[in-house]
Amino acid sequence: MRLHHWLRRLAGRLAAVHSRSGTAGLSAHLSVRLVRRILVEVLPPSSDELIYARHDRGFALISTRSPGVRMYFQCDPKDSVDTWSDDRIWSELHARVDIADGWQITGGRIFQKNIVGMRSFVSTPMQSGKLFLAGDAAHIVPPTGAKGLNLAVSDVRVLNAALVDFYKEGGTEKLARYTETTLKRVWRAEHFPWWMTRMLHKLDDTSPFEQRLQIAELEHVTTSRAAATALVELRRQRGGRSELA
Ligand SMILES: Cc1cc2nc3c(=O)[nH]c(=O)nc-3n(C[C@H](O)[C@H](O)[C@H](O)COP(=O)(O)OP(=O)(O)OC[C@H]3O[C@@H](n4cnc5c(N)ncnc54)[C@H](O)[C@@H]3O)c2cc1C
Repeated sequence: MRLHHWLRRLAGRLAAVHSRSGTAGLSAHLSVRLVRRILVEVLPPSSDELIYARHDRGFALISTRSPGVRMYFQCDPKDSVDTWSDDRIWSELHARVDIADGWQITGGRIFQKNIVGMRSFVSTPMQSGKLFLAGDAAHIVPPTGAKGLNLAVSDVRVLNAALVDFYKEGGTEKLARYTETTLKRVWRAEHFPWWMTRMLHKLDDTSPFEQRLQIAELEHVTTSRAAATALVELRRQRGGRSELA
């Protein structure tokens, strides 16, 4: 069978499994607040450093990419990208990211813009019979932490080792333990982007009390060495080394 036949069958099967999650034994486990962001790719870069900003107008992220820079900012869930002209985008980014000491983002040529939805999602278990889920089919992390691709590759490494064992030795133990082995790492990787998203976004369903707590938490992270170290540790961790890979 050709690869594209297999992929098509797999995608169809996945849709069916997700829609009949109860019968297949898979459940969509958690979907944390959906926020939408405008994503723009710009030349030249504004900064060599990654910048996260929480502003009363909403979140902004200046990410680093070669050769340009990718910037995100939280938008209204009902927005359409057509209503965001380049001038309006720059004015919004300046309002959210420029700081009082005079530093400001560098303007440039926007060569791509679109609106992307952000959510956290985990399907558990990640297998049902002979069906194994890997990557975004099994779990989504908001790109606040740049972990989705690493996580997908890690799943594939674990699954590959299990399949090699099955086809070479007839071993089924690694396949049977695929979910158990991968999920621990998945949950650890979900933690950082979920936490950063919750701390830095303006969320409609939070009370003024919770919004004040967001700021208190952010002040803690930016003024305490211990808290900053914990952030870096969470950012770097890949959820531990897989015992199967
Ligand atoms: C805006 C944004 C920024 C991101 N930034 C980062 C980052 O900086 N770092 C990071 O690690 N991750 C990042 N991610 C996440 C990362 O892109 C994904 O987690 C990763 O691509 C998941 O890989 P995957 O193979 O599971 O799925 P995908 O990359 O989505 O691959 C699925 C493939 O299947 C194909 N396909 C779908 N349906 C069918 C079908 N019916 N038949 C045949 N083919 C089909 C699709 O065309 C696609 O090529 C970002 C995601 C977004 C949305």
